[in-house]
Amino acid sequence: MVAIGLVLFTACGVETPAPTPSIPPAQSASSAPATSSVPPSSAKPPSSTSQPPPPTQQPKTGKVVVLDPGHNGGNSGRPGEINKQVPAGRGKTKPCNTTGTATNSGYPEHAFTWDVSQRISEALSAKGIRVILTRRNDTGVGPCVDERAAIGNEANADAVVSIHADGSNSAGAHGFHVAYSAPPLNAQQGEPSTKLATALRDGIRAGGFPTSTYLGSNGLAPRADLGGLNLSTRPAALVECGNMRNAAEAAAMASEEGRQSYAAVIAKAIEDYLAG
Ligand code: ZN
Repeated sequence: MVAIGLVLFTACGVETPAPTPSIPPAQSASSAPATSSVPPSSAKPPSSTSQPPPPTQQPKTGKVVVLDPGHNGGNSGRPGEINKQVPAGRGKTKPCNTTGTATNSGYPEHAFTWDVSQRISEALSAKGIRVILTRRNDTGVGPCVDERAAIGNEANADAVVSIHADGSNSAGAHGFHVAYSAPPLNAQQGEPSTKLATALRDGIRAGGFPTSTYLGSNGLAPRADLGGLNLSTRPAALVECGNMRNAAEAAAMASEEGRQSYAAVIAKAIEDYLAG
């Protein structure tokens, strides 16, 4: 008995409490937007004298870009939440959000948009541009399209860019297009948004990506039915990077190199727009 008691005691004694997680649990994406502002600093020790910025960090430009990665990884598990109707502009309502599409081999759009947005964010942050993402991670639910628009509006963003990929089963359908709200519902949806959409179209096309063969015209698509664009009071555009059902584009989207290529040309186009 004693031996057993000792063994039990010893067993209990070696147990240690579960460590406090150093990373907080994933939050619902409908909470405050994530701010990705400062690129990783170099590992220099602090100095008492004033320090020049690390070589990779440009001075702050004062510009704010809201990046809106389409959909979210948790949407498919919460149909009640994402199917609820929310204001979508022009007197209409639409579902809060959707699950998005996927490649034929199952690489999901939400993962693509999240990864590309992270890469764009890194590139813009390195140029001194403040970046706000409309969701914190790729495991949450939502936010709804009206909440996504509100994030850009409340940030008084200089540009709001939504990132998506399409899922058309039409034979041969491929290429990217950039959507903007039309007819415009406010001044920012007029020339500023068409200039942003055009800068994105020009930049992505110059980066070697073909314009859509099946939607819009010359890579531009005026739309009246996209809630996030309708509700924006800032210059806003939505990039459909390509067709996830097209084998070649699916392969590019599912590869890190491909996603980096999309991100690089989109980041450059946003910079060009902000400088123009
Ligand atoms: Zn989408």
